[in-house]
Amino acid sequence: MSITIRNLSSVYNPGTPFEVRALDNINLSIGEGEFVGLIGPTGSGKSTLVQHFNGLIRPSQGEVVVDGRSLTDKATDLREVRQRVGLVFQYPEHQLFEETVFADVAFGPKNQGVPEAELKERVNEALTLVGLDPSAICDRSPFELSGGQMRRVAIAGILAMRPKVLVLDEPTAGLDPQGRDELLDQLQQLHSRAGMTVILVSHSMEDIARVATRLVVLHRGQIVADGSPRQVFTQAKMLMDVGLGVPQVTELMLALREKGYPVPEVALTVEEACAIILGLHRGGEGQ
Ligand code: ADP
Ligand code: MG
Repeated sequence: MSITIRNLSSVYNPGTPFEVRALDNINLSIGEGEFVGLIGPTGSGKSTLVQHFNGLIRPSQGEVVVDGRSLTDKATDLREVRQRVGLVFQYPEHQLFEETVFADVAFGPKNQGVPEAELKERVNEALTLVGLDPSAICDRSPFELSGGQMRRVAIAGILAMRPKVLVLDEPTAGLDPQGRDELLDQLQQLHSRAGMTVILVSHSMEDIARVATRLVVLHRGQIVADGSPRQVFTQAKMLMDVGLGVPQVTELMLALREKGYPVPEVALTVEEACAIILGLHRGGEGQ
């Protein structure tokens, strides 16, 4: 399961005074099992790009190829593509509408023609994957739940279709720090345990640095960096220039380095930074 994007440009309202070139000649290939963080400031084209991954938006130029099949090819079954590339929109809980959690999570697979007898298994599996207890939550109304729970139910609705690739557009937006941490942990588990390919859209470096194995940085519709978090964060100045910055711990390490301390160029987590700083301190005591 791979997604390849070639020379993709996307223009809204072409030929009108409202024309916007949202994506400008994007080339990108995402392989099976990757955890890609797609990051960029507001308006950089993130949401436009992810809607090309399953054919919701058609390219103005270029093409999107999923598993060897071009989405612009008339013979490609877009329904099937949308089942395999599950897209969780921003604020997906706004799309909950059924009376019970069960009915909401079962909605997608039911539409796909999954037999009634199998729906329960699908729903249980999907709710468990997002850390909810099916027996406690299935019969409740989604509207009685907390914001974080509603969002997880909405994500479960996509997982119930058993996608190979899970794309989430700003899934932590508006969650409190605990809800955010729990959701990021669950996404990490979906990747590491369930082997899912995950594409996580965010404008928060702190979120992405924790979970992604690869970062793709968008700015004004173009890819300006693509690599491991470590590789991308060494370009701190460029990231700041495009209005993104680096995680606070990374910034601290860069500042220490500028002052002449022998720290590595990049630290991604607070734990890593602590170990390095304690190491410096011990080194100092020994002198
Ligand atoms: P992001 O998700 O990174 O904030 P978007 O993909 O939403 O970026 O937007 C990229 C650009 O396209 C922005 O300039 C935005 O105003 C414009 N845009 C997005 N959606 C539409 C639309 N439906 N109609 C016209 N312009 C749009
Ligand atoms: Mg967006």
